[in-house]
Formats: sequence, structure tokens, C-alpha cells
Amino acid sequence: MPANSRNPEISVSDLLLYINCPRRVYFVSRGFELFPEINASRLERMLLKELSLTFPDIVRECSLNADNLCKELETAFLHACEDLPLMFPAEFACIEKEVLEEGKARARAKIPEIAANLFRGLEEYGKDPMLEALTPVKTEPFLSSEKLNLKGVPSKLVCFEGMTVPSIMKPGNCPIQGVWASDRMHAASLALLLEAEAGGEVPFAFVEYVSFGLLRKVTIRSSDRREVLKICRRVEKIKAGFMPEKKEEKFCSDCTFSEHCVSNSSLMSKFF
Ligand code: SF4
Repeated sequence: MPANSRNPEISVSDLLLYINCPRRVYFVSRGFELFPEINASRLERMLLKELSLTFPDIVRECSLNADNLCKELETAFLHACEDLPLMFPAEFACIEKEVLEEGKARARAKIPEIAANLFRGLEEYGKDPMLEALTPVKTEPFLSSEKLNLKGVPSKLVCFEGMTVPSIMKPGNCPIQGVWASDRMHAASLALLLEAEAGGEVPFAFVEYVSFGLLRKVTIRSSDRREVLKICRRVEKIKAGFMPEKKEEKFCSDCTFSEHCVSNSSLMSKFF
């Protein structure tokens, strides 16, 4: 490859895969499917993400107490259960009834905790700041930068204290304080993209832990930016054909690629 040619654009999802395990980037860039089917846990996450999109309307319209919030969330949850199969018809066509019911039950069980945390947030920060931080000015905008050779889609952009900043919705576990390191990288990569598109510094972002109704503000530090740029270059190298060494990652036991993920020499013999 000529020294001055650019590899295909990389995406923020590649960076997140890299943080999980660099080898996953290699497999996905070569057409292996990351999520072959919807299981109960994935369905739970999809439902909670959908539910979280209703938080701004609920907070705006609801008279604020934890019981009311819980009832409104229950209603919104039923709508999410109806809407999701219409939004993802192909995925839902092959989902088994038991999986569907288990996913719904798991998501529904989270509603009381979500309501309690949302209510606590409203008491602590006030309704208007919470609404600013939750309400999208754009939902899933496509951001890209030729200079960074990167593209990505934040869950939303919100306008907080006069600044437009990215907000990402995370359906997994929530740390006791702050955000997970991988979420910090996710937020920083989107802040870099937003700066490239809109100009001006994006000094912070939000991470919404949707399974808990918790919203965390994360300051974007120079060290986060440096780390994102470093990962971008490593991902470019992998997408250009470099196979990272196999390490025993904590994700290996649940990894979709485990049956293909053998030593480098054995893998090559599968392909050629
Ligand atoms: S099996 Fe383990 S090392 Fe291989 S891609 Fe999956 S997580 Fe990475």
C-alpha cells in the first residue's frame, strides 16, 4: 500500500470493539457477524434504551414524585414493547417467544430503580438542568471527519449550559461514581468528531446509564483525546490486515468469534 494512501474510514464502534478486544475489530472488518441473534439480555438492553428516549417527555409532563414517574415509565415501556418489533422486523421475525418474554420481564424489573434514580436526580439537580441534559437537540446525528479518518453516531446531542455536546446511552452496568473507562473513550471520540464538524471545543459529554436512570457528566481530558487518537491508529492498522495477538480476554467465553479465534498461523490456514 502506498505510504500516503488512507485506509477506509474507521468508526467509533470499531474503537469500542478494540477496547473490548483488538481481535474483534479484525473479525468484524472481515465480515464476521458480531450479534447473530437477539437473546434475552440483548432484548432487555434494546427495550431499556428505547424507554430512555421517553425520559424527557415524562420528566417534562409528569407531576414529580417517584410513584408517578414509575407509572409513566410503565406506560412508556408497554409502548416500547409494541414499537420495537416494528422498528427491527428482521431481527424480531426469528426471536422465540420465551426469549421475548424473558427479555421483557428483565427490562420491566428495572423500572422501579430507574424511577427512583430519576426522581433523586431531579431533586438533586432540578428539573430544568435535568431536562437540558436529557432532551436531544438532534437524535443519532451522523458525524464524520476526514482529518480524523473517523465517523460515528452519538445517541443524541444535547444543549447544556449553552453548549452542544454528545450524549451516549449505555444499557449495561453503571459504576458507583463517574463512568467506565470505555465509556470515557466513547464520549471522547464523539467529542472529537463534534469538534471537527462544528468547530470549538467540546469540554464535556454525558453518559446515560439507561438501565438505572442515571446520568453522568464526563469531562473530556487531553489524555482521553490522546488515547482515542492512539486507538484510531491501531484500528487502522488492523483494518488494513494486521492480526493482533490472541490474548485470553475476559470476554472470550461469551465471544461470537471464539470458534474462529485460534492462533494466527491456524487462522491463516482456515482462510487460505
Ligand atoms: S475469542 Fe477472545 S481473543 Fe478472540 S476475538 Fe473473542 S474476545 Fe477476542
